Parts: sequence; structure tokens; C-alpha cells
Amino acid sequence: MNLILLGPPGAGKGTQAKELSVRHKLVQLSTGDMLRAAAKAGTKVGIEAKAVMDKGELVSDEIVVKIIAERIEQPDCAEGFILDGFPRTLNQAAALEKMLKDKKRKLNAVIELKVDYNRLVERIVGRYACAKCGEGYHDRFKRPKARKVCDICGSTEFSRRDDDTAEAVTTRMLAYYRDTSPLIGYYFAKGTLRSVDGMETIDKVAKDIEGVLAVRS
Ligand code: ADP
Ligand code: AMP
Repeated sequence: MNLILLGPPGAGKGTQAKELSVRHKLVQLSTGDMLRAAAKAGTKVGIEAKAVMDKGELVSDEIVVKIIAERIEQPDCAEGFILDGFPRTLNQAAALEKMLKDKKRKLNAVIELKVDYNRLVERIVGRYACAKCGEGYHDRFKRPKARKVCDICGSTEFSRRDDDTAEAVTTRMLAYYRDTSPLIGYYFAKGTLRSVDGMETIDKVAKDIEGVLAVRS
């Protein structure tokens, strides 16, 4: 099964992609995570991308398409994947379509997470992650079970994203509106769009996603 999770920054794509990947044994492919890893590793692409990401703008189609094209060639993607944060432009969607066609694979569903603006901002500014294993948390909505200790790996080091600032958020929302929201119409017209209320709790959203996937198959 090959899925796309679509929605504005902070909608819960990463959170749900991670849960779905475990439940359905699919590989989670987050272009944001891949670009941040490249930036941390200090590669040329990573350093270039970081300057763009910190401002809240989109990295070029050329770079992200290349990253995804190389990644889906890997054997672990053969059983299926969940794209989280890709495609983000109509050009990227067209490139993905071609990649899948060449590999004789199909897109099973595009799941749109719908969340109000104010809630998105609240989720973004409260977001943090374990610095060691990357597990995601939120100041209000998803706290570690033991105070300041990661549930997964026990680390006590946490970090926040450089682009989760009020200024970058405004630019990221504009980029979503301008470049990414047309994908909702694009996938609607193709009959693959499934919309879920992303305002609900993490568990309820996960349940609703399972519901739409069950109807599909
Ligand atoms: P995205 O990948 O779409 O940018 P994330 O999955 O990183 O969004 O979620 C943003 C923040 O909101 C994270 O801190 C996460 O823990 C929290 N979050 C995600 N889904 C929900 C939800 N349904 N209810 C409350 N908080 C959520
Ligand atoms: P995310 O982790 O999905 O919130 O992405 C963080 C940032 O990485 C975005 O604001 C962009 O700068 C960049 N990025 C991630 N995925 C893409 C993509 N598919 N196209 C362009 N830029 C991307």
C-alpha cells in the first residue's frame, strides 16, 4: 500500500505517518526529516536546504524529487510507503506519478488532515522531539509519561525545530496555501482524496484514518 498524508504544517502528518507505518508495516518517508538529517550531516544539499527551511520556504522541486526517487528505489520500500510532506507542489505530484508509473506501482490513497489555523499554530509552537530517537512530543497535547524523560529511549535531551518559530510559521502557511493546497483539488479530481478531521485527538484521528482505509479496500 502506498499512501500520501497531506495537510498544512502542524496538521499531524508525522505523528500519524509514524503510527500508520507501525500498524501496516510501511516505510515512513518524510522529506522534512530527510532534509534535516542532510543538514545535520553537513552535506552540500543539506546546508543549502537548511537556509531555505529556516525561513519557512520550500526547497526546490529538483532536490526533493531526487531525494524521494532515490529513496523509493531502496528494497525496504517495496512493500509500500507513506509519504509525509511530499509532494508539496503540483510539479512534485507529477514527478511522483511518473516514478510510480515507471515502477508499475500505484497510489492507494491520499489522506488529507483538516485542521483550523489557530490549532495548527498551537501545535507547531508546542512541538518538540527527543534529541536521541526523534520521538515527537507536544507541550500540551503529548507529554512524556515521566517528566522530561523520553517514553521510547529514556533520554532526557529534547530539541525544537529551528523553523517552528512564529515568523517561519507565517511563511510556511503561505507556502502551503500557494503551492501545496492545489494538491487537494488535484487528488480529489483523481478520486484518491480521503479527508479526515485532524482536530480530534491523536488516537481518534488514527482510528478515523483506519476507517477511510477500510472503505477504500
Ligand atoms: P506535521 O508533521 O503535520 O507538521 P506533527 O505530526 O509534527 O505535524 O504534529 C505537530 C505537533 O502537534 C506535534 O507536537 C504533535 O505531538 C502534535 N499533534 C499531532 N497530532 C495531534 C492531535 N491530533 N492532537 C493534538 N496534538 C497533536
Ligand atoms: P516538514 O518537516 O514537512 O514540516 O518540512 C520542513 C521544511 O522542509 C519545509 O518548510 C520545507 O522548507 C522543506 N520541505 C520538506 N518537504 C518538502 C517538499 N516536499 N518540497 C519542498 N520543501 C520541502
